Amino acid sequence: MRNRDGFASDHARHGSPARAVGAAAAWRSALAAAILAALSASPALGWSDRTHTLIAQEAVERLPEPLRGLLSDEGRLKRLQESATAPDLRSKRGLPQYSPGEKPKHYLDIDAITDEAQPFAKFPRDRAAAEKQFGPEAFTLHGSVPWAAAGALDALADAMTGGRTDDIFRAAGDLAHYAADVHMPFHSTKNHDGQLTGNNGLHRAIEIGLVHRYLDSYYRAEIRKDRYDLPLVEDPTGRLFDWLIAACARQKPILEAETAARTKANYNPAQHTDDLDNPESERAKPYYAALKQELEARGSPEAAAMREASGHVAELLYTAWVRAGKPLALTPAPPEPAEQPVSPQLWLALLAAGMVLVLLWPRRRPSR
Ligand SMILES: [Zn+2]
Repeated sequence: MRNRDGFASDHARHGSPARAVGAAAAWRSALAAAILAALSASPALGWSDRTHTLIAQEAVERLPEPLRGLLSDEGRLKRLQESATAPDLRSKRGLPQYSPGEKPKHYLDIDAITDEAQPFAKFPRDRAAAEKQFGPEAFTLHGSVPWAAAGALDALADAMTGGRTDDIFRAAGDLAHYAADVHMPFHSTKNHDGQLTGNNGLHRAIEIGLVHRYLDSYYRAEIRKDRYDLPLVEDPTGRLFDWLIAACARQKPILEAETAARTKANYNPAQHTDDLDNPESERAKPYYAALKQELEARGSPEAAAMREASGHVAELLYTAWVRAGKPLALTPAPPEPAEQPVSPQLWLALLAAGMVLVLLWPRRRPSR
């Protein structure tokens, strides 16, 4: 029942069923396999498609009415979820959607830029100030995700104000994506795949392998906990940095849990990438079971990251809507037809017609 859960872009990851009927189908299968192989060989760029669609869905669930109603019907939610996975497609070379300059919008490896220790209190939140201090190339190299999310918020408020539906979905998808990426604990460190601490392969083990195996635990329970009344986000860039720094604090327990799991199961996820999306793999089962258990023993920091991402994406969507003046529709109502004043010529014509009617009206003879 995936469609009901809105996993709109799963097919992009899973590919088409391998029922080759004829050469064309075989070619298509080969092409799909090649694309999948290329995607899985490329460095991970954030939560997986599935996690992004889940976070977007839960964010919509958290919105107050009437905004929730504007985004929650099946067609609109699906469109939002597809928009929320589009930024990753724009970041992958070789795909038709590829857009140069997209990739750094998904992360900010803050510890690659500054020697300052967590919580990076002195790191400038303002982009111009940060570029002045570290040079603009630091942010094309090491990422710019908080500013990408803040820019998407501005674009969304603007599109909502103008009632430009296509722009609304594009900006809302960008916002949901970048703001969710801010929460991914390995989007804010040069140790993004655990490669500096002997945890190679950790990134996708967490975001794909684990989520796909424990979908019910994450989506039906963890992500939905702690719904709250959404505040207006007064300083989006400042808050996005706060959230990114909170994500940094989750790196340590996740690294420790992963080390314990790989030791216990004697399994290296970097060597078995074909297991990621295959929950049936017997070889991988002990590792993922141990990883889940070790994470739970540390308060499930990965689940907290997804949950907070959902709540914060909702806060930002809500803020854009309030900024836009709380529109009651995503497309402006068509203008009311202006009342046509009756012209003097029409009055004269009506008068003339009336006179003709009076003159020609058959007179009734008085009855006897
Ligand atoms: Zn991303």
